[in-house]
Amino acid sequence: MISRFKQYVFSGVKSYHKDETNRRIIVVNLFAAVGMSITFLLGTRAFIDAEYSLSTTLYIASVAFAASQQLQIRFSSATARTWSITLLISCLMVLTLLLIITGGKDNTGPLWIYLVPPVTMFFAGFVRGLLALIAFTITCAIFLFGFNDAAFSANYTYAFKTRLLYSFLTVSFLSAFYEFSRQKSYDTALYLSEQFERQAKHDHLTNLLNRRGAQQCLDREYARMLRSKRAFSVAIADVDRFKSINDTLGHEQGDEVLRQIAKIFSSRLRGQDILARWGGEEFMFIFADTRESDAAKALESIRELLSKAPLNIDGKKVHVTSSFGICEVSAGTDVSSAIRRADMALYFAKDNGRNRICASSSISPSPFSNSALSKV
Ligand code: GH3
Ligand code: MG
Ligand code: MG
Repeated sequence: MISRFKQYVFSGVKSYHKDETNRRIIVVNLFAAVGMSITFLLGTRAFIDAEYSLSTTLYIASVAFAASQQLQIRFSSATARTWSITLLISCLMVLTLLLIITGGKDNTGPLWIYLVPPVTMFFAGFVRGLLALIAFTITCAIFLFGFNDAAFSANYTYAFKTRLLYSFLTVSFLSAFYEFSRQKSYDTALYLSEQFERQAKHDHLTNLLNRRGAQQCLDREYARMLRSKRAFSVAIADVDRFKSINDTLGHEQGDEVLRQIAKIFSSRLRGQDILARWGGEEFMFIFADTRESDAAKALESIRELLSKAPLNIDGKKVHVTSSFGICEVSAGTDVSSAIRRADMALYFAKDNGRNRICASSSISPSPFSNSALSKV
């Protein structure tokens, strides 16, 4: 029983929805259940009392509440959710209006009006909720003041009608204000969490992904490679003799060198490729859907670009080069061993004179063969 209730409450909740959407789905489920039961019970009571028009109205409302809940479950789309919420709010508003017009039991019907503002604001959000409440207030005012009393089965005093509207407007204003602040703080919290997430994955000096961000991209690329069965390549670049650049220019200028190198490296990449700052003066390239030989060609043009055009650091021309190690990742290799092999290839490139590219496949069979290296 409890598990069935839980199943009902959480029906339509999906892990890929935003938290806000899931919360709304749960509340729609609960609200529809309450609305459906109450209107059904009241309808049955009216039926027993032989108030057939009231009982028919309440039964129709009960079905409408059930339909609004089913709508969001059966068609799990944003449009279906909007229709479901619209039906729910309309149902509540029509019922409240009928209770005001007929007076309900001993003229207590208008009391249900205070349910309308918080429910409308919560479900429809600030802007749509406000518009719906304005339309509802005008309709109520027309029915309360626009017709002479003979049109109503309920008879309210003028003072009661005005106080009802004033207090309703006050509750509406407070609900709107509450919803507005809630939405604002939700947006702020969302913005801050996105900022924190961005900062956690990015390097503040170069604005590239940092090691953690790169690791996530590697995992994603690896999963894609397993699905598509098409290899991708990783490469590690290490700036040559960077310590001496720091020693001659200073640490701050060293930072500027790293920033400019990041721009040069990014400038030759395709949209689907990723460049990250792997650490210190090391960068990682992830060449999506690319064999090692093609990655080597792309890196060759990057290496050439860097080595041929000196950087301009505070008006000084600074010649910088970098060495690269590449490794292809296919179904037989896991990411960490591919990185290890790219690292080995990089050190092989360093050992063999720097400013060059070394492919891991070329050093595996014969670690010190010169064919492993490419240098212009
Ligand atoms: P190699 O060609 O063998 O790679 O020589 P190298 O001098 O580049 O290598 P080494 O590892 O000895 O030196 C790397 C230097 O990079 C040392 C470190 O102070 C510097 N470094 C690391 N991170 C940063 C940074 O964020 N900014 C600056 N300015 N320097 C950094
Ligand atoms: Mg290094
Ligand atoms: Mg270095």
